[in-house]
Amino acid sequence: MSVSKSRPKPKRNPGDFIAKHLLNIPRSGIRDFFDIVSSRKDVISLGIGEPDFVTPWHIREQAIFALDRGATTYTSNRGLLELRQAISAYVEEAFGVTYDPESEILITVGVSEALDLAIRAIIEPGDEVIYHEPCFVSYAPEIRFAHGVPVAVSTTRDNGFRLTRAMLEKKVSPRTKALLLNFPTNPTGATLTQADGEDISAFAIEHDLIVITDEIYSELTYEGGRPSIAAVPGMKERTIFLHGFSKGWAMTGFRLGYACSPPELSEAMMKIHQYIMMCAPIISQKAAIEALKTRTDTEDMRLSYQERRNFLCAALNEMGIPCHVPKGAFYVFPYIGDYGLTSKEFALRLLDEENVACVPGSAFGECGEGFLRCCYATDIEEIKEATERMARFVKRLKR
Ligand code: PMP
Repeated sequence: MSVSKSRPKPKRNPGDFIAKHLLNIPRSGIRDFFDIVSSRKDVISLGIGEPDFVTPWHIREQAIFALDRGATTYTSNRGLLELRQAISAYVEEAFGVTYDPESEILITVGVSEALDLAIRAIIEPGDEVIYHEPCFVSYAPEIRFAHGVPVAVSTTRDNGFRLTRAMLEKKVSPRTKALLLNFPTNPTGATLTQADGEDISAFAIEHDLIVITDEIYSELTYEGGRPSIAAVPGMKERTIFLHGFSKGWAMTGFRLGYACSPPELSEAMMKIHQYIMMCAPIISQKAAIEALKTRTDTEDMRLSYQERRNFLCAALNEMGIPCHVPKGAFYVFPYIGDYGLTSKEFALRLLDEENVACVPGSAFGECGEGFLRCCYATDIEEIKEATERMARFVKRLKR
């Protein structure tokens, strides 16, 4: 009896193995742009969002001591208890919310990992997450990785990129599960007022939403205080508070962050974290314990950034690039929409003609079109030189 053979399946090319939902997610617009920048010489970069300070010496020293004493092991999955205790004390002092170090704080590999854990712990396929744009490039892709649906609320320059309850009401649906906030905001520098925080909290409670709040730039707030939505009465139990050491302490390379949340949520995030990451690096955790022993490092850096912000905003406005004065983070987000170029064209020509790198606003969402992100965590002399070059460039465009 003859056995009928099924036809052999055509072989797949490597690209054919890639998950379909990943194919629809574009590469970060920042990365695209900096591939071009890195191929050029003598560029002044106002591009990458990274402190120009080296991590304060006493923090680096503790990392060195830790290594010297043989701290080369895993830690508890949640992170060193001593660090969680220090974080608990700091968050209580700075934000007015108390988290139990044993059950409500999880140490992660940067806010990047904390964000991924928070989203994956709560999002099921089709759940909608509302977030405000222009925003950090990772938000929409992270939501999509979890098979959620990103729902953007556009903010505008006429009110300093403020987020209001009325804007959120227009986007909420029966599928909305979470609200993702970032104040001070990357890339606009917008901050949250106490009143807006209370309004947004009332919205979250009324629609029974969970709030993920990314407060990584919180130490870099120049005016108006830094209220956290987690501190609004009734919000702690529906908030995942994310923070880390990259920006305020100039510790990007240590890759250290944390998530504070009610025990059930913390345990759910911990489940993912223990299987994918085990723990954050012990050397970084030891350094972070030292980082939280003083408040002067972050304050000195904040004052230095504030001076540079003031200079850059004034220079941009003077040369004819309208720029609101952001109250937080280390970015300005000036409007370049009157020059007849897209933000990408503007940024590429500025780079080409004057060797100054800024990120096109469109990298941060559709409503970022018409803007440029300039990071002022750069040496003041370089910022001065960059503004002279930019002034020359816009003078030519005006002709
Ligand atoms: N959130 C925001 C808003 C950011 O700008 C960044 C870094 N640019 C991160 C999170 C990630 O920070 P990290 O992983 O270094 O803690």
